[in-house]
Amino acid sequence: QAKALGKSQVRCFALHMNDRVQRRVELEGALRRAIAQDELTMHYQPQLDLQSGRLCGFEALLRWRRGERLISPLEFIPIAEETGLIREIDRYVIRAVFRQVEEWRAEGLDPGEVAINISALSLQEAGIVSYIAAEMTRRRLPPDIIKLEVTESLLMKNVDTAQQVMSELKALHLKWSIDDFGTGYSALSYLRRYPFDQLKIDKSFIDDVNVNPENASVTRAIISMARSLRIAVIAEGVENNEQLGFLVEAGCDQIQGYFYSPPLTAEACRQWLIHRGPPGPDEASANPARR
Ligand code: C2E
Ligand code: MG
Ligand code: MG
Ligand code: MG
Repeated sequence: QAKALGKSQVRCFALHMNDRVQRRVELEGALRRAIAQDELTMHYQPQLDLQSGRLCGFEALLRWRRGERLISPLEFIPIAEETGLIREIDRYVIRAVFRQVEEWRAEGLDPGEVAINISALSLQEAGIVSYIAAEMTRRRLPPDIIKLEVTESLLMKNVDTAQQVMSELKALHLKWSIDDFGTGYSALSYLRRYPFDQLKIDKSFIDDVNVNPENASVTRAIISMARSLRIAVIAEGVENNEQLGFLVEAGCDQIQGYFYSPPLTAEACRQWLIHRGPPGPDEASANPARR
C-alpha cells in the first residue's frame, strides 16, 4: 500500500516536471552512459590551404552514436555545458584525438595541424593544462601540430582563468584558434590580450558573402585586421566556388567547408592521407554523417 503510494507520487512528480527539464535530465543520463560505453566518436573535416592548394589539417568534430542515429554536438554540447559534463567530454575528445594522431603518425602519415574544439568552461580549471601536457607526452606528439578552438562568445563570458590557462598551453607550444569569430561582439583590440594563432570567420558571414555587400566588407575587414595582428585566417562553412573565389581574392589563408570536404570518418581521413587526395565515391557514400 505504502509502496504503491510512493510510486504514484513519483509518477505525479514526473508528470509535473517541466518538459524541458525532464528532457535535459534524460539526455544528461544518456550522455553519461555514452561516455562510459564509448558511444562517442570523432569525425575529422579537412582544411585547405589556399596558397599551396593542399590539405593543411583537420578539425575534429564529435559525434554521438545512438543506435542508428548520429547526433550532432549542437544537440548535446549546450546541455553538457549547463550540467558541467562538458569538462569530461572535452577530456574524452582530447584523449581520442591525441590517440588518433599518434596512430596516423605511427603509420608515417602527416595530418598537418589538428584542431580540437574545447569549451571555455574547461579552461576554468587549471588542471586542464597538466592533463593536456601528460596526454601529449604519452602520445609523443609535437605540441605545435595541435590547435585548440574556443568560441568567441563563450570566452567573453569566462575571462579570468581562461586567459591564464591559454597562455600556459601556448607556452607549451600548442596553438589557439578563435572560433565563430564575428558573432561575439568582441572588440578587435581585445584579440591582442589572447595568444591566438588563428581566427575562424563564422559561417554566417560566409553564407551570403557574394550577395551581401555588408558581410563582404566585414569579411574583408576581419581578414586585414587579422593580417596586421599576424593571425592566420580560416573561413568556415565554405560551400561553393563563388565563396572560395571571394576568399582567395580577399587574401584568406585557409578554408573549411562542404566545398572542400564534409567531416569524414577517421578511416576515410587515413585513406586521404595515404592517397594524398579525397576518398573515392564509395568510401564517401559509406560515410553516414555528411555533416
Ligand atoms: P564549429 O566548431 O563551428 O564546427 C563547424 C560546424 O559546421 C560542424 O558542425 C561542421 O560539421 C559544420 N560544417 C562544416 N562545414 C560546413 C558547411 O560547408 N556547411 C554547413 N552547413 N555546415 C558545415 P557540427 O559537427 O555539428 O558541430 C557543431 C558545433 O559543436 C561545433 O561548431 C562546435 O562548436 C561544437 N563541437 C563539435 N565537436 C566538439 C567537441 O569535440 N567538443 C566541443 N566542446 N564542442 C564541439
Ligand atoms: Mg570549431
Ligand atoms: Mg566554428
Ligand atoms: Mg560555427
